[in-house]
Amino acid sequence: MICPKCEYEYVDGIKECPDCGTELIPSEEFEGNLVHSSDYIIVYTCYERYEAEMMKANLAGAGIEAIILEQSDRNFPAMGDLELVKLLVKKKDSEDAVQFINSSINNLLTDDEI
Ligand SMILES: [Zn+2]
Repeated sequence: MICPKCEYEYVDGIKECPDCGTELIPSEEFEGNLVHSSDYIIVYTCYERYEAEMMKANLAGAGIEAIILEQSDRNFPAMGDLELVKLLVKKKDSEDAVQFINSSINNLLTDDEI
């Protein structure tokens, strides 16, 4: 069993994540959520889908294909800030993607200061 939020694995018999209270799911099911492939790696996380969409579009402009993974929390609908959006790229693209993301974030910060 695995917590889809914390991504910690737990032994059979535990039904809820002790950390966040999310209902645990079978780990096979969780792997399925992860685009049924270990070829992808998480390079960026944020709380708003539009941020991920923006970053995905930026990466596409740089020739890097990315996918968005959203985890919705049915147990705590009020705690929206726990909802995490993840951006995944293929492992071979991950270094380029991280570099690109870091530089876009720096650009954003610079723009804000001006
Ligand atoms: Zn958890």
